[in-house]
Amino acid sequence: MKPLSLPPRLLMGPGPINCYPRVLTAMSQQLVGQYDPAMTGAMNEVMALYRQVFKTQNQQTILVDGTSRAGIEAVLVSALEPGDKVLVPIFGRFGHLLCEIAERAGADVHSIEVPWGEVFEPEQIEQAIRDVQPKMLAIVQGDTSTTMLQPLEHLGEICRRYDVLFYSDATASIGGNPFETDEWQLDAVSVGLQKCLGGPSGSAPITLSDRYVELVRKRHHVEAGIRESAHQSGSGSRIRSNYFDIPMLLDYWGEERLNHHTEAATMLFSARECAINLIEEGIDNSIARHKLSGDAMLAGIQALNLEPFGNLKHKMHNVVGVEIPDGVDGEKIRQQLLLDFNIEIGTSFGPLKGRIWRIGTMGYNARQDAVLHTLQSLETVLRRAGHKLPAGGGVDAALDTYAAARDAAI
Ligand SMILES: *Cc1c(COP(=O)(O)O)cnc(C)c1O
Repeated sequence: MKPLSLPPRLLMGPGPINCYPRVLTAMSQQLVGQYDPAMTGAMNEVMALYRQVFKTQNQQTILVDGTSRAGIEAVLVSALEPGDKVLVPIFGRFGHLLCEIAERAGADVHSIEVPWGEVFEPEQIEQAIRDVQPKMLAIVQGDTSTTMLQPLEHLGEICRRYDVLFYSDATASIGGNPFETDEWQLDAVSVGLQKCLGGPSGSAPITLSDRYVELVRKRHHVEAGIRESAHQSGSGSRIRSNYFDIPMLLDYWGEERLNHHTEAATMLFSARECAINLIEEGIDNSIARHKLSGDAMLAGIQALNLEPFGNLKHKMHNVVGVEIPDGVDGEKIRQQLLLDFNIEIGTSFGPLKGRIWRIGTMGYNARQDAVLHTLQSLETVLRRAGHKLPAGGGVDAALDTYAAARDAAI
């Protein structure tokens, strides 16, 4: 076989997206030993960087090795004991994932749902907390399956009032939409790199409040007979995963550096570079750039007489759902975009399968040229498939959006 040579795709789906070139460069670094001061120094830098990304003072801010769901699983399996009640408000596919993972941890899972394309009011969640009296509220911030962004800012206060742990999966939204761990009083947050942070999937940054850490440290845990935990006296049952045992992960990342797994160094270099890139740009600037490219894509879609999906008031900046017009074969259009134009857009799941495409503008690809190429190519493919639409309308509307933003900035 020849060395791997992949086509130069432009990834405009809901993730993964093309990496920032500097992230790819960082991943080609030679390795150092696990306890080399150069490596442990890089781990400490990663903790400090992700405190900034998450907007938190939490000491316990680390990476879980694995894709985003590794972070979700670590947070849930470490905190939830069999029979513990957890409340999951579901507004898309990833809410179901939180339920599934919590169920496997043995938790007593209660969910509430809104139709796909909508989000929850804080009162609905407060009512459910009163009814269920859960140990934890677990909720997604941005669900790429529906493109909706759940407002979280009022939920922390509610959770404190009812003494409930507050966890959010912000994988799809962080870096492209506002996120405030401490101000919103979150106890646990997990993310991934492959959305607005502009890296590959394979590392899951998490941050944990003292309240969360105290709780999980009370749980008795033993590492494969080698090391008995200092917290054996805890009343809780043993955490049902070695790989995702957060007290053990914290002891590995902490000053003691107690051996656990072998840190996935190349992914750590990647995560480090993603954070540096975001902080150098400025988190607010990054959010504004995602908003601008998201607005330009939306304007272009609407100018092509295509219908965006869901309640636009709650749309994430970085992805838009587009109703597939009647008589158009959505999968065929996607395939032509990929094969003729090297552009990937997303399909969808569950109730939206076959009904909408999902087009992302995130990370490295939240840029004017990527937006324009995508709109022009989509228009061409739809026109050649016999669908009537205003020629050039999409690109013009997007260009107008960028021009208006430039004028406003002067
Ligand atoms: C994309 C996405 C993920 C991705 O999970 P992986 O394990 O990295 O595939 C997780 N959560 C949300 C909300 C997402 O949008």
